[in-house]
Amino acid sequence: ANDLMQGKRGLIMGLANDKSIAWGVAKSLADAGAELAFSYQGDALKKRVGPLAAQLGSDIVLPCDVGDEDSIDALFASLKEKWGGIDFIVHAIGFSDKSELRGRYVDTSRGNFAMSMDISVYSFTAVMQRAEKMMSPGGSAVTLTYYGAEKVMPHYNVMGVAKAALEASVKYLAEDLGKDGIRVNAISAGPIKTLAASGIGDFRYIMKWNEYNSPLRRNVTIEDVGKAALFLLSDLGSGTTGENLHVDAGYHVVGMKAVDAPDM
Ligand code: NAD
Repeated sequence: ANDLMQGKRGLIMGLANDKSIAWGVAKSLADAGAELAFSYQGDALKKRVGPLAAQLGSDIVLPCDVGDEDSIDALFASLKEKWGGIDFIVHAIGFSDKSELRGRYVDTSRGNFAMSMDISVYSFTAVMQRAEKMMSPGGSAVTLTYYGAEKVMPHYNVMGVAKAALEASVKYLAEDLGKDGIRVNAISAGPIKTLAASGIGDFRYIMKWNEYNSPLRRNVTIEDVGKAALFLLSDLGSGTTGENLHVDAGYHVVGMKAVDAPDM
């Protein structure tokens, strides 16, 4: 434990279960003394998120569907009532129709393109519109992205296009909110077996490939991501904004298959 987040309050969005990246982030923030609130999508997740929040000493568990403006407003109205201000936001939300996370990108439908962009990209901007009004200088936000935004990865398809837009939006948000001393960053996580990832075709193969070919010769964990989020959300990250911090065991620097990687 450490006291890097002592006296800071923040919202964790995107916790589904104890495999979620949001869980790794929440644990490291709570361990550093942060006071947490959680938002969940849909009643089915409430009974999962409630007990997990309680494990970290939080009883602020609120519904929010980020596809719905009223729902986001209601979430921030509740937080304002409870806390007045807020110090940090963790946005760990993405969604696409999984039937389009296999096969060819060129076959993406207009409807799923719009929905993927809405939930996976615009939602972060929508959230920051509300959060900005409750934040003081020193406020910080983190969203989650993936290397499929930068390079073509198998089956990532429309989510790759969405993550590219999300990464660009992080830069614009950093500029807009930077004038008020609020920092906005992304973490580009390597592949991790979560509920969302299970929708991606050949995910086991992708994980093996990353394990064999990344400089650290392993996959990352939600705890690895949690530590990087702690850096970006705490005062340790005071000079960093608009950044895309890769937490991928170094995979993004590699140019070809490792000489010692087994055949797959
Ligand atoms: P997860 O399934 O545990 O979390 C995804 C969350 O998004 C869920 O809690 C779900 O309820 C939420 N969500 C989806 N639609 C929503 C909506 N309309 N309103 C509110 N919430 C909604 O999976 P995860 O892998 O932890 O995903 C978290 C983030 O990390 C996502 O942005 C994902 O793209 C990103 N990411 C994941 C990986 C990976 O390999 N798992 C790698 C890089 C980035």
